[in-house]
Order: sequence, then structure tokens, then C-alpha cells
Amino acid sequence: VFIAFEGGEGAGKTTQARLAAIWLRDHGYDVVTTYEPGATKIGMRLRAMLLDRDTTGLSDRAETLLYAADRADHVANVIKPAIERGAIVVSDRYVDSSLAYQGFGRQLPVEDIARVNAWATGGLVPDLTVLLELPPQEGLSRLSAPADRIESESREFHERVRQGFRALAEADPDRYLVLDASRPQGELSREIQYRIREILPD
Ligand code: C5P
Ligand code: MG
Repeated sequence: VFIAFEGGEGAGKTTQARLAAIWLRDHGYDVVTTYEPGATKIGMRLRAMLLDRDTTGLSDRAETLLYAADRADHVANVIKPAIERGAIVVSDRYVDSSLAYQGFGRQLPVEDIARVNAWATGGLVPDLTVLLELPPQEGLSRLSAPADRIESESREFHERVRQGFRALAEADPDRYLVLDASRPQGELSREIQYRIREILPD
């Protein structure tokens, strides 16, 4: 079983992924929590290249390929082995982040990014994708740490990313659980648990 959490900056993906993992472990499941970019040894270096604010002049296509490279390594070394041994994988971001950020945000053709990522991941698609939905100003204002290269993008960029995630969810409603991320944490995590229950093996 593979569950991904998606959404813009400060939507609470990390918190909700952690709460879902705790709940699953309490019910006896073997759970692997992971994230993108940067969950592997090479991934950590790619993450630094992608998010350091002094990485000026990185082209949109190179950015897309670096995220895809991180994801290919993540699938091969973390996600796939865990799924194969029967664990539940909970990932903070996955392919839909690239469709939203590099596709809608950078305005590169979404089909191209989908194709590159299908190749990078060997076609691995989550069983469930939880989209935590929030206006970008609200999410960005929740961040305390100094902004990274992407967080420093324009308001318009983040608005396109948000609309991108919404469009992706609408196009694939069976795979998505879309939640208003401004609601209380406890309520959100209970709704997520109900939905996860539906996809668990007995
Ligand atoms: O840890 P966090 O998810 O915040 O860091 C990932 C950063 O990378 C975010 O700032 C996000 O905007 C950016 N990102 C991106 N394209 C992706 C995935 C993440 O620009 N495909
Ligand atoms: Mg961030």
C-alpha cells in the first residue's frame, strides 16, 4: 500500500503524514514514512541543489529532471523495497508535486512531466493521494523558517501550483482525498484515517 500527501507550502503534509503513520503503527502495520525531495543519500544532495537560494539560473527543464532523478532514486531504494516486503509507505510529496510545481507552476507541458516521471518511477502510482488544500498566502504565512528557493517564488507561481493540484485531483477523484487544510488537525487526521481504512488489506 502506497499513500502520498500533497499540497502547497505550509499545508500540513508533514504533520498529517506523521499522524497517519502513528495511527497505522498503533494498528500493527509495518509503516515506512518518507518524503521528497531528499530521502536518499543522492537525494539529499539533489535537494540541496534544488532548494539552496544561491542556486541561481537553474533552468526549468533541469529542475524538472533533478526532481525526477531524486524520485527515481527514492522509488528504487526506499519505496519499492518497502512495498515489496509488505509495508505501508507514507510519502510527504510524490509525482503530483512535479505536475503541480514544474507543470502548472513553471508552465512546462504537464504531459511531458507525466511521461518523464512515469519513466522515472517505473509507473508506480499511489493507492491514495491526500491533497491538503490551502490558499498560498495562508500556507506561506505558516512557515517559520527562512524561505527556500521555491518558497520564495511569486504569489502567482504558488497560485498556479494550487490550481494545478486541484485540477489533478478533479481528473482522478478515485485516487484523491481532498481536504481543506485550514480545518483543525484532529478533524483532518480522522478523515484521513477513515479513507485509509478503505484501502487497507484485512
Ligand atoms: O520539505 P518541503 O516539501 O517543503 O520541500 C520541498 C520544496 O521543494 C518545497 O519548497 C516545494 O515547493 C519544492 N518542490 C518543487 N517541486 C517538486 C517538489 C517540491 O518545487 N516537484
Ligand atoms: Mg517547503
